[in-house]
Amino acid sequence: MTHILIVEDELEIRKMVCFALTNAGYEVSEAENSHQAQKLLPDKRPDLIIVDWMLPDISGVKLIRKIRQREVNQQTPIIMLTARSEEEDKVSGLDAGADDYMTKPVSIRELLARIKALLRRSQNYENILKIANLHLNETAHTLHIDKQLVAMGYTEFNLLKFFMSHPNRVYSRTQLLNFVWGENVFVEERTVDVHILRLRKILKTYKVDKILQTVRGVGYRFSVELNDV
Ligand code: CA
Repeated sequence: MTHILIVEDELEIRKMVCFALTNAGYEVSEAENSHQAQKLLPDKRPDLIIVDWMLPDISGVKLIRKIRQREVNQQTPIIMLTARSEEEDKVSGLDAGADDYMTKPVSIRELLARIKALLRRSQNYENILKIANLHLNETAHTLHIDKQLVAMGYTEFNLLKFFMSHPNRVYSRTQLLNFVWGENVFVEERTVDVHILRLRKILKTYKVDKILQTVRGVGYRFSVELNDV
């Protein structure tokens, strides 16, 4: 289910947007300030974020910068809401990393249309991941190797999806736990090894296990080019 986070301190607007989004079939979580929003991010892992410009603690622009600093949220679509209509504010909002911009009063119909458009764009963007002979379709939740459909567990799939979208870099167990399992999830680091092992076994069946490498003392890496481990 698509999850949307709304960060807005004005209760009336927040409730109205929440109601409309829930009615439109989205899962919604709400924050009334930047601090709350930042606390929700790791748990809720939203697919899209709506941020109001004027927030009581730090500004929406600063919040967007903070959101973009999180590696997992670099591509998350963000819509900025504002009561201002000056061109320069719009520019600084977009500069900070917002993908779209709406001036209050918010038209729900317009907001829904923009959300749809942004989600379509972002889902197309990361819909299919291809590395070597691996084709991973995020929407369909399928993996094909050499055009053969591969059966795999939910966690192995998510792990592979993460690796395929972040190739050629080494990740520690802690980082993998944060990115794949989510922060604030209390899972032992050993769990990562168990799932890496399972994933490697699957890849081995297709003779592509070399692509998933152990970097001694550091963690794991997914790479076609670098296999001198
Ligand atoms: Ca506000």
